[in-house]
Amino acid sequence: MARYNDAVCRMCRREGMKLFLKGDRCFTPKCGVERRSYPPGQHGQGRARFSDFGVQLREKQKVKRMYGLLEKQFARTMKRATRMKGRAGENLLVLLERRLDNVIYRMGFSTSRAEARQLVRHGHFLVNGRKASIPSIALREGAVVSVRETSRKVARIAGALEALEGKSVPQWIDIDKDNFTGKVKTLPVREDITMPIQEQLIVELYSK
Ligand code: SF4
Repeated sequence: MARYNDAVCRMCRREGMKLFLKGDRCFTPKCGVERRSYPPGQHGQGRARFSDFGVQLREKQKVKRMYGLLEKQFARTMKRATRMKGRAGENLLVLLERRLDNVIYRMGFSTSRAEARQLVRHGHFLVNGRKASIPSIALREGAVVSVRETSRKVARIAGALEALEGKSVPQWIDIDKDNFTGKVKTLPVREDITMPIQEQLIVELYSK
């Protein structure tokens, strides 16, 4: 499986905003964007000028990196979104939100999507009572995600749940911390995604 192996904070600095890719570190002064709020590289502190294409490309890269997808996976998701009823941009974001790794992150079983993906790959989760080890599966309304009995003591899961104390989860999700279980109450809608994303720019990029 192909993977991105370069420094993760570079991606946030390139997009000029926090993408929250590193869990707890993102909320500390060690955050790369906090320390160096300019793009990486030799010319990072120079003046950046973007063409229309450049603006669209940056928006696509931002969302792709936020959800931890590679180019082909993202293009496939975009293709699926355009075939669905409704607005392609909104469909794209909803499809990304419904991914198992994202739902686990939103439920608070991990501190980042990358960590969620690894935990899924390692077989720590059940979906509707059955083992699920594919991070990209799109969950349906009513899907129940739970941590396997034998995985409840995994330090990263327990730590993430502890860190969830006092924080709220999205309204389309229900979480039962004591039973290590969460439920997709309803499918997410555009308004549930609060990160600043201009999905129309991505649609324009792919419609060329
Ligand atoms: Fe991005 Fe988190 Fe790194 Fe900050 S610490 S630059 S938010 S990945």
